[in-house]
Amino acid sequence: MVFLHKCPICGKLTDDEKYRPFCSKRCADIDLGRWFDGSYAVPAEELDEADYEELEKELYNKKDEEK
Ligand SMILES: [Zn+2]
Repeated sequence: MVFLHKCPICGKLTDDEKYRPFCSKRCADIDLGRWFDGSYAVPAEELDEADYEELEKELYNKKDEEK
């Protein structure tokens, strides 16, 4: 008996047993990648010095507001 189910990644109907609920290893890997992405809150971005200065200003401004 074959159970068709929808792959949660690409939405394709599949009866794949090995990678259930996904249709293929590719979609299983994509789902795994999403979980990993979720554990790292913000992707690291390169900041240059001007960005750091802006950030510092913002932080100081916030501190002032809290007083
Ligand atoms: Zn799929």
